[in-house]
Amino acid sequence: MTLGGAPIGSRAETGQTSRSETRQKPAKTRSEQMLERLLDYLRQPSVSLTGEGFPQATARTMRAVAAAGLEPLALETGGRPAVFGQRRGPQSAPTVLIYGHYDVHPAGDRARWNLPPFQPTIRAGRIWGRGSADNKGQHFAHLEAVRLLLERDDSLPCTVKVLLDGEEEVGSPNLDALVHAERDLLAADLVIWSDGPVHESGAWCVRHGSRGLLALRVTAEGPKRTLHAGSFGNLAPNPARILIDAIADMWASDGSIAIAGFHDDVRRLSTTERVALTRANFNDQALLEEIGAPDFEVGFGNASTFERLAALPSLSITAFRAGEARSASIPTVAEAWLDIRLVADQSPESVTEAVRGHFAKRGAKVGLEVLEAIPPSRVPFDNPFTPVVSGALEAATGALPLLVPGYGGTVPDYVWAKRLGVPSLGVPFANVDESNHAPDENLEVARFVAGVRISASILEALGGYPPQTSAA
Ligand SMILES: [Zn+2]
Repeated sequence: MTLGGAPIGSRAETGQTSRSETRQKPAKTRSEQMLERLLDYLRQPSVSLTGEGFPQATARTMRAVAAAGLEPLALETGGRPAVFGQRRGPQSAPTVLIYGHYDVHPAGDRARWNLPPFQPTIRAGRIWGRGSADNKGQHFAHLEAVRLLLERDDSLPCTVKVLLDGEEEVGSPNLDALVHAERDLLAADLVIWSDGPVHESGAWCVRHGSRGLLALRVTAEGPKRTLHAGSFGNLAPNPARILIDAIADMWASDGSIAIAGFHDDVRRLSTTERVALTRANFNDQALLEEIGAPDFEVGFGNASTFERLAALPSLSITAFRAGEARSASIPTVAEAWLDIRLVADQSPESVTEAVRGHFAKRGAKVGLEVLEAIPPSRVPFDNPFTPVVSGALEAATGALPLLVPGYGGTVPDYVWAKRLGVPSLGVPFANVDESNHAPDENLEVARFVAGVRISASILEALGGYPPQTSAA
């Protein structure tokens, strides 16, 4: 697909061929200019958890939205503001809302980065820096597509709205209320989000929903002061043992999750979804080698690797803490953090109740605190926009994308169906080894440039929707 006369990335796109100019420094290609603008955007820290870079980050994002040719607006949320932008297209065409987030995960220990997190660089065909993939590089590709189309035609093929969350990395606590309050402003026919990696095989894909997240902290109390293990062993109840017992019991001996009621609301996959899952399955052996494990977790029967990720709930212990190493004492408290990924139609509330019930039934004196609760979503394959978006991806990349019914990670995708009543489709641009939330986060340059092409292709395809039936 060509835009503005020559494919993005080709030398011809600049049209600079005159002799006098070739002696000077060659003019920058469109890709080079886009990358320069992205690096500049990445230079602004925007860590929602710590506040690093705020409030400048919001202003910087407003400028990026305006520079693309959209009318920007900061939306107050009670927390960090969201940034909105829009530009009207023809009335006959649908309205698309592009969702992304401009906040980033903390950089963590800088010593673990090979390249500094907020001094983005391009090296070995990748853009390195915090936010390059999660999520600035991905939504910036959409902004560049808007800019490209406007530079070419001075108009957009369809109405484009952009909503950039400033709190996604802290669980988007205000997004649901914001979308509810601003439902007229945000009204659209579909939502497109680009976050997380492409399919594990590297293939482009269209995601139909994501898993939800329920983050819990569970605690057991012991003696009111730390006690000597020699003087009080056999006497003082040990909170670590109480908590270990309660948690271990969450799994049956075959490895399956044994919490009564946990699976009650899990939606059965349709035949089309099941076929799509099989098609999207990937090489188990390669994954095991990559993560350095001899085998996968047990307890999932015949479910394929991809089905476990995209269509089944998971329950992980992500941290456990009690006492001090070599202290020879009985601790006063034990704590564990549980990460539960939910699938349609489980709700954080009912699963929390199931976990609570599990402890209560065993008489386990365990406290439970909900740290984060994001419902899951699953968009039906037979919504009107899946063919439009997958056709646009094919036109832009030359390959039919994989259609997948879910995503192992969590994005606040449920709000679109709940608040706007429209389908939302995930079109991720990042490479699988993007290292999001880790040191050396990166986005392949080729994926970013393709992302711009894909986004422009989607907007153009939406411009032709609904397809005109035979001319009068
Ligand atoms: Zn993230």
